[in-house]
Amino acid sequence: MNFKDKKVLIRVDFNVPLDKDFHITDDTRIRAAIPSIKQLLERGSAVIIMSHLGRPLKKLKEDGSIDRERFTLKHIVPRLSELLGQPVLFAKDTVGTDATKKAKELKPGQVLLLENTRFEPGEKKGDRELAQKMANLADIYINDAFGTAHRAHASTSVVASLFDAKHKSFGLLMEKEILNANKLLNNPERPVTAIVGGAKVSDKMLLLDKLIDLADNIIIGGGMAYTFFLANGGHIGNSLVEKDRVELAKNLQQKAHQKGVNIYLPVDSIIADAFSEDAHTLVANSMDIPDGWMGLDIGPEAATAFGDVIKKSKTVLWNGPMGVFEMPPFAGGTHSVAKSVAEATANGAFTLIGGGDSVAAINQLGLADKVSYVSTGGGAMLKFLEGAKLPGIEAIEG
Ligand code: AMP
Repeated sequence: MNFKDKKVLIRVDFNVPLDKDFHITDDTRIRAAIPSIKQLLERGSAVIIMSHLGRPLKKLKEDGSIDRERFTLKHIVPRLSELLGQPVLFAKDTVGTDATKKAKELKPGQVLLLENTRFEPGEKKGDRELAQKMANLADIYINDAFGTAHRAHASTSVVASLFDAKHKSFGLLMEKEILNANKLLNNPERPVTAIVGGAKVSDKMLLLDKLIDLADNIIIGGGMAYTFFLANGGHIGNSLVEKDRVELAKNLQQKAHQKGVNIYLPVDSIIADAFSEDAHTLVANSMDIPDGWMGLDIGPEAATAFGDVIKKSKTVLWNGPMGVFEMPPFAGGTHSVAKSVAEATANGAFTLIGGGDSVAAINQLGLADKVSYVSTGGGAMLKFLEGAKLPGIEAIEG
C-alpha cells in the first residue's frame, strides 16, 4: 500500500489502566501499537490515531454527565510522545470541529490523537453516521486494535466497511496476534496442551469444546475445576461452583474421553476457611473438601502433575489463572504453571498466553519474554480461539 502523503486513520487499543491521579500503571498496549504507528510515519503518512479508554458512558458522574476528566485520552499523550520520540497533537473531540480541523491540517510525519471514541454514543451501537465522520478524516484506515476486534463498533468495524479493499488493512500488532493464534489452530506440533483456568466454566465452555477437537491434553484449574469435581461426585465444601453447569462438565469430559483427549484436574487444592488472605489454609484432596472450606488454588501434587504434562508438550495455550492469584497465599499454583510454561518454551515448545489474567500472572513473574507470545487481547483472543468470526477482522477482509 502506498502511504506517502496520505492521511491514515489507525484504530489502536489504548485502553490502559490508570491510577487515581491518571498515571498509566501498565503501558503494554501503548507499546504494542508503536511499531505500526512508526512504520506509517516512516512511510510518509500523517497519522490520525483513535481509541477508546474505559467505559465513560457506563460510569457517568453523579449529575449524569460524562466524566471527561477521568476518561480523556489526553492522559495518554505524554507517554505516547515519549515512546514515539516526537510530539503528539490532541483533538478535544473524536469527529467534531477540533478533530476535523486538526486532521485536515495534519502534515506527513505528524501524529494526531483523537478524543475517546466512547464519548460518542454511536460508537458502541456501530452507528454508520459516526463511522462516516471518522472515515471522512482520512484516506486509509488501519485496524491495529486486536483487543477490541470482537466488537462491532463504529471505530472498529463499521468504519472499515466505508473504505474499499485498497484503502484498508490490518496493523502489525493485529497481524502478529492472528499469526500466533493460527500457529495453535492450524497444524500445531504435538502434543498440544491447553491450560484453562479462571473463575467460571460458563465463560470458557465454548473454548473447552473447541479445545477437545484440537488438544491432546487439557489441564483445568481455578474456580471452574470445582464444577467438574462436583460433576464427578466429589464433595467440594464452599468452593466456587456453577450447579447449572454440572451436566455440561460431565458432557465435556465424556466428549474428551471419546476423542482420546486427556483431561487433568487438580488432584489436590489449597483450601481456606474464608475468601481472604488471612484465612487459615490446608492442603486437601479436591474430591473431599470439608464444609466451610473452599478451594482457592491448586495443591502441590497438582502443580507437579500439571508441570510434567506442560514440560513434555510441543504446543501450549494458557488461558486463566489456577487460583485466586491476586492473593499471595493462593498464587503458588499459577506461578508454578507459569514457570512450567517458560520451561517448555526453553525446551522448544510454542507457547501462547492468551487471556487477561494469565497475562498479568506472566508479567508479575517477569516471564513475559520467556514464552513465545503474550496476547494483548483477552476477550478477543478467547473468541478467536473459539472459532468465532471477529467483526474487526471481517470488516477488513470482507
Ligand atoms: P477469569 O477472568 O475467568 O480468567 O477468572 C479470573 C479470576 O478467577 C481471578 O480473579 C481469580 O481470582 C479467580 N479465581 C481463580 N481461581 C479461583 C477459585 N478457586 N475460587 C474463586 N475464584 C477463583
